[in-house]
Amino acid sequence: MKKAPIVDIWAMNKCVFLDRDGVLNYDDPNYTYEVSKFKIIPGVPEALKLLKENGFLLIVVTNQSGIAKGIYNESQMMACHEYMQQMCGRVIDKFYFSPYHRTVTNSLLTKPGTLMFEKAIAKYNIDIAKSWMVGDRGRDIIPARQLGIKTIQIGDEVEEGERAEYEVGGVLEAATLILNSVKGSR
Ligand SMILES: [Mg+2]
Repeated sequence: MKKAPIVDIWAMNKCVFLDRDGVLNYDDPNYTYEVSKFKIIPGVPEALKLLKENGFLLIVVTNQSGIAKGIYNESQMMACHEYMQQMCGRVIDKFYFSPYHRTVTNSLLTKPGTLMFEKAIAKYNIDIAKSWMVGDRGRDIIPARQLGIKTIQIGDEVEEGERAEYEVGGVLEAATLILNSVKGSR
C-alpha cells in the first residue's frame, strides 16, 4: 500500500497578498466586471509566476462594492477571476472579496478592515513576518500594516500617513523587491 505523504500541519506559509484593481488589472472608475474589458497589466503573469516558484502563496484581497451597489453580480466577478487565472497560469491560490459597501452594509471584510486577511492567515497558516501586501491605495496598506505584514504600494496615489514601506512602479518590480529581500535576509 502506498504511504500517505507526511504533512506538517504546523508548517507556516509565506504569502504575497495582492489587491486586484489597479494592481493586477487596469482599474476603471466605472468598475471592472466585464471579461471583454478586463485587461491584465503587463508584467503581472511573469511576476506572479516568479513569486510562486519561490514558494509564496498568492492571495488576492479585493473590495468589490459594485456588487452591493447592484452594478454587477458575483458571477460576473467570478468570470473575471477565472479569466485572470487563465492569463496567469492558474497560480493564484485564492480570491477573497468583499461585496459590501458602507452605504449599503458595513462589514469588517471591506478594506481597510482586516477580516479578509485574517481569514486567509487562519486558513493557510500564514507567517505574517514573511509576508507582503501589494496595493495601490491607503485602504490596502492600512490593514496589512495593522497585522504586521510588510507593505508595497504601486504608484503614488496614497495619502501621507498611509504610505507603504516601499513604493514601486508595478507588480514585477514588487516581486523583484520581495525576492531580493528574501535573499538578503538569509
Ligand atoms: Mg486597487
